[in-house]
Amino acid sequence: MEEPKEREPVDQSIDSLRENVDGIDDQILALLAERRRVSSAIASEKQRTKRPFRDEDRENSLLTKRVEAARDHDLDPGLVIGIWEQIIADSVSLQQDHFQGLLNGGGSTAVVALQGIEGSYSQLAAEQFFRDKPVEISLLACTRFADAASAVEHGRADVAMLPVENTTSGGIAEVYDLLLHSRLAVIGEVKYRVQHCLLGTEDSSLDTIKSIYGHPQAATQCSDFLGELPDVEVVFFGDTAMSGRRIKSIGDPTIAAIASEEAARRFGLKVLKRAIGNRKENYTRFLVVARDPISVDPQIPSKTSLVLSVGNAPGALLEVLARFKEQDIPLVKLESRPTIDNPWEEMFYLDFDGNVSSPHVQLALDGVRRTAKFVRVLGSYPSQDLRPQKRNLNLTADLERPRVKHAGGKPAASPVTASGYRLASREQKEESTVIEVGGVKIGGDDFVVIAGPCAVESLEQVMAAAAGAKAAGATILRGGCFKPRTSPYSFQGLGYEGLEMLVEAGRVHGMPIVTEVPAPEHVERMSETSDILQIGARNMQNFTLLSEVGRSSRPVMLKRGMSASLDEWLHAAEYILDAGNQQVFLCERGIRTFETSTRNTLDVAAVPVLKQRTHLPVIVDPSHAAGDRHLVTPLAMAGQAVGAHGLMVEIHPNPAEALSDGAQSLDLDDFDDLMALINGKG
Ligand code: PEP
Ligand code: MN
Repeated sequence: MEEPKEREPVDQSIDSLRENVDGIDDQILALLAERRRVSSAIASEKQRTKRPFRDEDRENSLLTKRVEAARDHDLDPGLVIGIWEQIIADSVSLQQDHFQGLLNGGGSTAVVALQGIEGSYSQLAAEQFFRDKPVEISLLACTRFADAASAVEHGRADVAMLPVENTTSGGIAEVYDLLLHSRLAVIGEVKYRVQHCLLGTEDSSLDTIKSIYGHPQAATQCSDFLGELPDVEVVFFGDTAMSGRRIKSIGDPTIAAIASEEAARRFGLKVLKRAIGNRKENYTRFLVVARDPISVDPQIPSKTSLVLSVGNAPGALLEVLARFKEQDIPLVKLESRPTIDNPWEEMFYLDFDGNVSSPHVQLALDGVRRTAKFVRVLGSYPSQDLRPQKRNLNLTADLERPRVKHAGGKPAASPVTASGYRLASREQKEESTVIEVGGVKIGGDDFVVIAGPCAVESLEQVMAAAAGAKAAGATILRGGCFKPRTSPYSFQGLGYEGLEMLVEAGRVHGMPIVTEVPAPEHVERMSETSDILQIGARNMQNFTLLSEVGRSSRPVMLKRGMSASLDEWLHAAEYILDAGNQQVFLCERGIRTFETSTRNTLDVAAVPVLKQRTHLPVIVDPSHAAGDRHLVTPLAMAGQAVGAHGLMVEIHPNPAEALSDGAQSLDLDDFDDLMALINGKG
């Protein structure tokens, strides 16, 4: 090969040599820009011809060619590989954005909500995320992460940037909790390289500084540097950019701030010292969240974020993780946070490489749902880990040699069954679900008895009912606080005041409680204290309510709608399961038929039919079926005989004075007799 032409320095003076270098750098930049344009054109072509978006063979052969050329130029192959890995990564990210389009074809402007002001790292991360997307962004500065999330939920912003973790200071708990409790979907991620600088005003210098303003996280990440300044006071600030803006407005040369170089530019501050972080490599990972999930083109390498809880059974987490291993899905992150309502139970946040739309991911998720108590997919999104592929460069071998491609060969995800539901079906999960709440098991071989008044009427009444229930052997206490009544003039319940009484009675008698949630807006608050959430017959097809309790980590008792077929009922259960909550049990409470001698007709056949069709536990409520206390005991016995997993019975210390459903309520003695019969001692 011909010797490459060396550039002859025309003049040996340092200035002109530098000029020469600048000229070369300009050319390199122009060529890089040109290369990006060509790369975009390749992306369009790949999209048109449906070619895979990342072509490992092509990347390897490109690198091999570069290394060979490097040798010809007497350049270090390591240097050249390093540079071209970066160029390839940039090209891949450019093509990825091209493929994905903006937020799946969204508009050309986007309002981005973030915690902080201009010049904050969140803003810089937003700029990085949108850099190669054909979108104009405008910022909505918020005081708290929760405000940014709520701005998206309520349509004031299109996306929010939420920092979830930093490589130096770790996970950001507040954001994890927010992800679980908001309805937002993750549509992207940004790994932003944080480079903290010490900023001062025009006249300040390192030795004049007496105090430093900074975000607590930023201060932690710069603790080594700050430790060397023992006489300097550190003042905590809500966000980094804000501390920069503040010192600018104070204009005191003895006060400095920790912020980005970008903030210095924006606020006209001076950089007193660069790179003051403990670690040179310091990254913050932001999640980009929107109201709706996006679907990611299967050609794009993607990542999925998931939140789940598994309970405390030994090996439960291992069991869940094994489902990913079975499907060859790499986990890239696992973080745990205590559940808010159940402090000793952990919620696990998990990221894995893969796309929810792919069959093997669906299979893994089906498997996860079989063990987990709660599973919610936060979203699939294009991965920013444009990790250099694990290259196996054979620099002399023939690159034309065909490579063995991973054929997949995985079975397709279990389809929606003929009946139309999936998660609730026995086909999806063969073993029966057993729900554990406060030491009581619902499902499996145990027979659970839930008892208590139709409505909580006073503390004395619910205490007396609870004492009777407990003494007779019931293990869960019921009581209506919000009473959806057929007539608006009937007693509507004591609301949250009643709930407090029920909680107290449950606590005193050591029984978990169940109460009906009347509407979606009550779910969050009632989940704080009610161990089980009841969905009443009249609400069985209130799909918003079903999805909302599906997002709670409390078990749900789903009563059958009075005119609902088993199929409709199981579809209703499917709504709850699909929203994440896997702890659902069914309650047969009688249906509307032409027969008028009972309040409803107890459909005893529903129990064995459901046990065939679903893995979810089924209990029987003889009280609302009968409408008459004399029929409650025989119907309860029938429920037990057909294999129900338990009963729910209305009892009252003085049924004659009950404010609702007195006619069907057993008094405490009658309930005691019923329990003796149920236990085979009557
Ligand atoms: C109840 O159990 O409190 C109740 C109101 O029952 P249903 O929803 O079955 O009518
Ligand atoms: Mn009732």
